[in-house]
Amino acid sequence: MQSVSSESRVVNTENQSISFILERKKVKNINLRVTNDSSIYVSASEDVPVSEIDSFVISRKNYILKHVAEFDCNIAPSSELQYVNGENITLLGRNHRLKIVKSFHESVVCDGVYVQINALRLDYKPRIMQQFTEWIESYSRSVFEEVMQNVYRRFACYDLPFPELKIREMSSRWGSCLPEKETIILNKRLIEAPKFCIEYVLYHEFCHFVYPNHSKKFYSLLQVMLPNWKETKAILEKSVNI
Ligand SMILES: [Zn+2]
Repeated sequence: MQSVSSESRVVNTENQSISFILERKKVKNINLRVTNDSSIYVSASEDVPVSEIDSFVISRKNYILKHVAEFDCNIAPSSELQYVNGENITLLGRNHRLKIVKSFHESVVCDGVYVQINALRLDYKPRIMQQFTEWIESYSRSVFEEVMQNVYRRFACYDLPFPELKIREMSSRWGSCLPEKETIILNKRLIEAPKFCIEYVLYHEFCHFVYPNHSKKFYSLLQVMLPNWKETKAILEKSVNI
């Protein structure tokens, strides 16, 4: 298997900072891609200096902004969904359209553009609501758990327990950590944010397993684990209002 090391970086353009994940692997050129959840990945071989990579990312600024532009839209809280066709649903920083279709079988599917609810009856909203709620809960759990696994690996040297994940409605926080109960609680609205923002919240909470307070040591650990956490926090606060 090819060995890949990765680090988070931030470059500043005149009016915007761009966060990206730099992967070091054996590739010929510097490659850049923006994923569906608006994460930016750049790959380059070990011998390309970071200054060159940063300049490359800045030179691709317009391309990047075009692809992540959608994520800067104001996000309507999912809790206020009216369950009408065409309504906006934000998932992982990306806008989707709601489509409710009459069907012989109930299901909810997301293709990256639409969230389609296949409902037995179009005139019975409580059931449609329930279908959507069940779907978004299981979707959020699978995304959060996947990110949690990745962040957990970075803390391997601390020999932490793998925490239980609880997803809750929270009014003023993105997450919290109960180290003694080996539990992390995430705000259910975090699913609206880009994946790298979810990752940031989990880094913060995992650091609490090591330092249960917001001491200097806590922040230095967070800084080592996620050097661009401040920028990411700012993006999170800008993109989803709680
Ligand atoms: Zn905290």
